Amino acid sequence: MSENKVDCKNCTHFRSAPYEARADACYFSDNMPSKQSTTYLDEQQIAGNHKKINLRSDCKDHNARSIPRSFLQRLLRA
Ligand code: SF4
Repeated sequence: MSENKVDCKNCTHFRSAPYEARADACYFSDNMPSKQSTTYLDEQQIAGNHKKINLRSDCKDHNARSIPRSFLQRLLRA
């Protein structure tokens, strides 16, 4: 049995309310029942139910977010 459990909150396809989306959901195009190609039609999109898709914490489409650089790392690179 695999121990590689994934969390939607650490996935690049996940958007959370209220700043990124109207409700917490999965925005991976293959998991969305309705997708719009243009940005101004975002309101008409229907995002995927991440709780249902990742019910067993084994979603194959999980794409890990990169770890943000610390303030010191950003300062030294800038
Ligand atoms: S359901 Fe899968 S693809 Fe969607 S946010 Fe969760 S881990 Fe990512």
